[in-house]
Amino acid sequence: MKKKLEMLEELQEVDQLIDSLKVKQNGLHDELNEIAQSVDAAREELAAMQADLSQLELEKGELEVNHAAELENILRAETNMKEIKTNKEFQAVGREITAAKKQVSDIEELVLQKIAQIETLSADVAGKKSLLDELTGNSSQRTAEKELEIKNIQNDIDADVARRETLTKEMPASLVKRFSALREQRRGQAVAIARNGHCLGCNMHLPPQLYNNLFKYEELLTCPHCQRILILKLQ
Ligand SMILES: [Zn+2]
Repeated sequence: MKKKLEMLEELQEVDQLIDSLKVKQNGLHDELNEIAQSVDAAREELAAMQADLSQLELEKGELEVNHAAELENILRAETNMKEIKTNKEFQAVGREITAAKKQVSDIEELVLQKIAQIETLSADVAGKKSLLDELTGNSSQRTAEKELEIKNIQNDIDADVARRETLTKEMPASLVKRFSALREQRRGQAVAIARNGHCLGCNMHLPPQLYNNLFKYEELLTCPHCQRILILKLQ
């Protein structure tokens, strides 16, 4: 009986070890996802900035087309002027030219604004690009480290699973089944230590007769409060 209890205790240890390794492994998987997400986010930001830059270039190009058209209008009006006969017509074309010249200078002002915006944004894009390169480099290094860690943990898990199999082979199948069911119900702890008249699984006081029976090692005894299998430990 004592041997059985020792095996149960060891089985619980192995199971808890496997659980904690899996938790650690899941944490590493989450970290891997976070790394990938941060790279994706930076990439998306860069793409958005590049799209803004293209838009500015496009707007600048349109302004330049308008600029050329207005200059042509002025040239045409000035040529026409030479053939004008009446003063009234002369004045009308003069107004046209003045308006077109004003238009040209407004467009030039706008083009200068676009050029300034393009310069600022181009510098930002270049900065973002080098940040992304750095981030990508760091990420692949960190990813490789995490993947190695995950692999090492998996090796530990495999070793513990093998150890568990060896252990359970030596135990009666019914006992393993009972242990597993109990473990599921009791948040991963099927076996509890009994000490000084208490169950340390639920911290409740054990009936004195039950506690005394634990010293006899005649049968598996369970806590009446939490139903865990009790293992006597004097200290
Ligand atoms: Zn208990």
